[in-house]
Amino acid sequence: MDEDERLAALREHFGDIVQVHDELADQLDAARDRQVDLREEVDRLQRENEALKTSSLYLATVEEVADEEDEVVLKQHGNNQEVLTDVSPRLSDRLEAGDRVAINDSFAVQTLLDTETDARAQAMQVEEDPSVEYADIGGLEEQTREVREAVEAPLMDPERFEAVGIEPPTGVLLHGPPGTGKTMLAKAVANQTDTTFIKMAGSELVQKFIGEGARLVRDLFELAEERAPAIIFIDEIDAIASKRTESKTSGDAEVQRTMMQLLSEMDGFDQRGDISIIAATNRFDMLDRAILRPGRFDRLIEVPEPNVEGRREILAIHTADMAVADDVDMEALAEETEGFSGAELESLATEAGMFAIRDERTEVRMTDFEEAMEKITREDSPGTPIAFY
Ligand code: ATP
Repeated sequence: MDEDERLAALREHFGDIVQVHDELADQLDAARDRQVDLREEVDRLQRENEALKTSSLYLATVEEVADEEDEVVLKQHGNNQEVLTDVSPRLSDRLEAGDRVAINDSFAVQTLLDTETDARAQAMQVEEDPSVEYADIGGLEEQTREVREAVEAPLMDPERFEAVGIEPPTGVLLHGPPGTGKTMLAKAVANQTDTTFIKMAGSELVQKFIGEGARLVRDLFELAEERAPAIIFIDEIDAIASKRTESKTSGDAEVQRTMMQLLSEMDGFDQRGDISIIAATNRFDMLDRAILRPGRFDRLIEVPEPNVEGRREILAIHTADMAVADDVDMEALAEETEGFSGAELESLATEAGMFAIRDERTEVRMTDFEEAMEKITREDSPGTPIAFY
């Protein structure tokens, strides 16, 4: 091999080595990136591990605080177990009966919970100024008149009742099938009378806030007084006021206590006319008659499924802002929707709009309404198999 050939071979070898070096450098970079990723993963897992190892705390309510001993009686939520426990002097000064606290496995009080952020805020929905108006409600003229008479008149014009010498109605009970406008009616009165609307759902009281129903009912009336004039709206009242059953499970006892608290709040209710109570139920047949006595829910208003006239009005309300084609026959739709509730008519209009959008149109045609009707009727009958498309 002469000099030139050796030089060429060495050059080639050098080129190969540079290439291998570059490849290895790339691999090193990738490995470094991976190392950073894995480190982050380890950190995350370590944090998760720590979190899993710390034990959770339980909730309890302080029942009594002993004056000198730094001892308190607590009632644990969920199982209602009562315990006497020591508290650190740091906390004992701040604790009062009725406070909610977090406790550990050995019942030592860890923290005092802020009442404002707890149950009240979660269980009640407060609207200063609901936006529903009477004109938004279709087909319930008679019911609207009755609700206005029973709620609006005592709130706005209490002297009229005094002059005649009668007590204004205490509570109004709206009953009828789901989605027929009961909540809307209550909100519209609150809007018209410029009162705060406070809503609480009976079912939530017994399902989510076990052991606290009675306390929440008390809070509800307290809050209404703070925010007066106010309308208290208790939806699904059957959940807390159904007929007494024979069974004696603790769940029933709890529901009973919640109802007794409601009755006693209503009985002790000072009729100053600035707080009104409206309740709603789909299960009138299940209600305990005790809540219907005079001075309690003594005004019963049935909110039925809309008739053809009502359906026409409701359809008109919910299609008012829609671009509806000339071929849409509202009269025929009102006729064909026998058995539809207000809420279902609203979803009929929305679904029809969706069909138009799917077809890239802005105008909603009769065919869209027909397809929407088919869809809603199909979803409504549980026996029919659902089509896949
Ligand atoms: P639920 O018993 O299930 O609580 P509800 O009777 O309180 O039902 P709402 O919540 O008032 O029913 O109505 C649900 C929705 O249905 C409303 O937001 C409204 O859009 C529509 N709707 C129901 N009834 C009417 C009606 N009479 N007029 C116009 N819209 C209505």
